[in-house]
Amino acid sequence: MENKVFSIAIDGPAGAGKSTVAKGVAARLGIVYVDTGAMYRAIGLKTVRLGIPSDDAEKVCPILDGTEVTIGFIEGVQHVFLDGEDVSGLIRTQEVSNAASKVSAIPEVRYKMVELQQKLAKNTSLIMDGRDIGTHVLPNAEYKFFVTASPEQRTSRRYRELKAKGQLNGMTFNELLLEMVERDKRDSGRECMPLKKAADAILIDTTYMTIEESIDSVIRYIGG
Ligand code: C5P
Repeated sequence: MENKVFSIAIDGPAGAGKSTVAKGVAARLGIVYVDTGAMYRAIGLKTVRLGIPSDDAEKVCPILDGTEVTIGFIEGVQHVFLDGEDVSGLIRTQEVSNAASKVSAIPEVRYKMVELQQKLAKNTSLIMDGRDIGTHVLPNAEYKFFVTASPEQRTSRRYRELKAKGQLNGMTFNELLLEMVERDKRDSGRECMPLKKAADAILIDTTYMTIEESIDSVIRYIGG
């Protein structure tokens, strides 16, 4: 496996543990981890900054040509740059999560991001997480996983994360759950490249799994 470039696709809904699992697998296999959600978040942030409704294709599309999203790695950690500015620390708010979910339903946004993601995977072995990696971005990935968990479990993980970062802004568990369900519906209901398990992806339900157990189960399938 060392000499050949290979890809691992990880898809699933928000809060299922995709990124934590993908990071752990990348570290164990010594390959790059690419978080594609960060790219949609960068575009979402731009619409928030410009005061453009994130779901209005007529307003979002004209800004795409003049928008540059790139990713880079600093000490092995992915950073996302929006028009040259490192926005990695600004894209994890609830406001940007919702904006990302909305802009990501616009086909022109997706085409631009998918092109960039496919370029990244060409010469580098990596594990890439998102919603459409196994179905559209890397349909020929050597390994595909669909990581999921119950909506309540996913909400409680996100709740703890936001609380720890002091970013709950008074939001209750139930409000967060509603937003999560809303985001799931938007992600799986959109016409362009929706969140969907690839037919050949392995399903991993992390509801009752620890992080280590989830990473182990992916590694076991890969045979690492
Ligand atoms: O994964 P994350 O929660 O950071 O993604 C933010 C939003 O970007 C998601 O809610 C989803 O709508 C969108 N997304 C997407 N396709 C991807 C990755 C993320 O549509 N490959």
